[in-house]
Amino acid sequence: MGRSRLQLTLALLKPDLMMHPVRTKEVKTIIKDNGFLVIQSRVTAINQREAEKFYEEHRERFFFTRLTGYISSGPMTAMVLAKENSIAHWRDLMGPTKTYRARDIAPTSIRALYGISDTRNATHGSDSDESAKKEINFFFPEFNCDNWFETHEVLYRENRHTVVWDDNQGLT
Ligand code: ADP
Repeated sequence: MGRSRLQLTLALLKPDLMMHPVRTKEVKTIIKDNGFLVIQSRVTAINQREAEKFYEEHRERFFFTRLTGYISSGPMTAMVLAKENSIAHWRDLMGPTKTYRARDIAPTSIRALYGISDTRNATHGSDSDESAKKEINFFFPEFNCDNWFETHEVLYRENRHTVVWDDNQGLT
């Protein structure tokens, strides 16, 4: 068996969660305790138009207006997480999309614990390598995923990576 693959994923702490500093901190603790490296982190807010772009694949869905209004309603924390199989692992920790379903079938998941409705479900995570790259680029246009793998994968394997956790430090 080959070693598992190092992956990057985009995690968002959505506006409903960010309204509650204590819960936000608890979710960050879950992220750290599960061995994810936070290699980029930024508190940011997006407007309606940007939200429509970010979720454009859902344009025809009945919840699109609700979703884009909500996601542009306040600050979020956007993070790039690195870990082996980070995409599946982070989605597993988040639990099912819908909060009420999460409470039924994954009661200890983040969405079960912190989501407040099917739309306002606390967190986001990319669902594939392709969307991770696109979504990371959306929130961190200056960050180049391919370059990161070239320069940091070896450091990661040797435990010599640098971790970023200071929201907005050094950023305008
Ligand atoms: P996920 O965020 O789990 O990848 P989707 O990409 O299907 O799920 O949906 C994007 C977001 O749209 C969800 O996180 C949630 O905020 C919202 N959403 C999805 N399905 C519904 C629904 N049936 N009712 C209300 N909001 C929804």
